[in-house]
Amino acid sequence: MENVIELPVRTLPVRTLMGSGPSEIDPRVLQALAQPPIGHLDPAFVGLMDEVKDLLRYAFQTENRLTFPVSGPGSAGMETCFTNLLEAGDKVVIARNGVFGQRMAEMATRLGAEVVTIDEEWGQPVDPQKLEAALESNPDTKVVGFVHAETSTGALSDARLLAGIAQRYGCLTVVDTVTSLSGSPLYVDDWGLDAVYSGAQKCLSCVPGIAPVTISDRALEKINQRQTPVSTWFHDIGLIEGYWSESSQRSYHHTAPVNSIFALAESLRLVRQEGLERAWERHREISQTLVTGLDRLGLEMMVDDASIRLPQLSVVNVPQGIDEAAVRTRLLQDEGIEISAGLGPLAGKVWRIGLMGHSCRSENVERLLDALERVLTDLPVASSCSG
Ligand SMILES: *Cc1c(COP(=O)(O)O)cnc(C)c1O
Repeated sequence: MENVIELPVRTLPVRTLMGSGPSEIDPRVLQALAQPPIGHLDPAFVGLMDEVKDLLRYAFQTENRLTFPVSGPGSAGMETCFTNLLEAGDKVVIARNGVFGQRMAEMATRLGAEVVTIDEEWGQPVDPQKLEAALESNPDTKVVGFVHAETSTGALSDARLLAGIAQRYGCLTVVDTVTSLSGSPLYVDDWGLDAVYSGAQKCLSCVPGIAPVTISDRALEKINQRQTPVSTWFHDIGLIEGYWSESSQRSYHHTAPVNSIFALAESLRLVRQEGLERAWERHREISQTLVTGLDRLGLEMMVDDASIRLPQLSVVNVPQGIDEAAVRTRLLQDEGIEISAGLGPLAGKVWRIGLMGHSCRSENVERLLDALERVLTDLPVASSCSG
């Protein structure tokens, strides 16, 4: 049978992954994953940890000493940043322009922070003027949180501008770069971002379940001055630091997912080999061919302003009278291609097409456009439109 890998326990299909993540994985990364594990305190593994930290500093464009992968998905990276930076009663301004800003606000609320939100219509970037106004009327704010690339809406916010405003008001920033890292320009140090987290399964094209995090010295100062201990043991950076710190003093905290770290190291080497600028450019170019092809099929982008539109995640309006779920099912089952549904208020209204990392290739764009054309032509017309 074609497109099927035989596994000892069961058979899984091979998919073309063009959704909101996970993205496809380079064969070299899969090979690294399949290496026999070594002990997580083996000197060879400790050496690899140092390499991973250096490669992450390159990917984030930072010199931050505290740069490491959290063992857990992107949301665990989010949790690490908020749990360490916030204490009960701290005031935090959170921008909500999609699912992930909403998730930030929920986390901060559960930590007992005083949460002020600024809201934006889905598909819009965070409005710098609203942030400025919120900080003006809440001068006791300590932290500002926002999402750089909103995967639920396909909009890119101006992280440099937002961080600059936060800094002028003496605030630290928590920035979600889960989808932007290695897909859109990101300069953690130049832009003055403080607690920044990402995920491995989007534009890094690694396995899900690892969350790169980098913390500035300014943020570390606030963490070191906490009056109360970090509320969860697992995410306490003070403890994790002992595990991911310089080789000689390394001590056990938890068992790192060693094979996932093998894979992460290889995926980061590939990013380094290609070069960040080249990777950003590739995402821009290939996504432009997708947008042009979709336009040819009569499909419209939800974010029509190209200057704020994510190249790695295109949100497409579902045309009137089309059963959006039927299209996704046909794409998956007949064509072996995964695209994603809309979330929250966009459910049923949009498709989300990912071109992340290794998935971001011309051949994938061609496959999807061909398949979409077939599926849309074949689809039974919705009953409201039929004679
Ligand atoms: C995917 C994603 C997350 C969550 O990552 P998980 O690995 O699913 O926990 C957070 N923020 C953004 C912007 C994302 O795209």
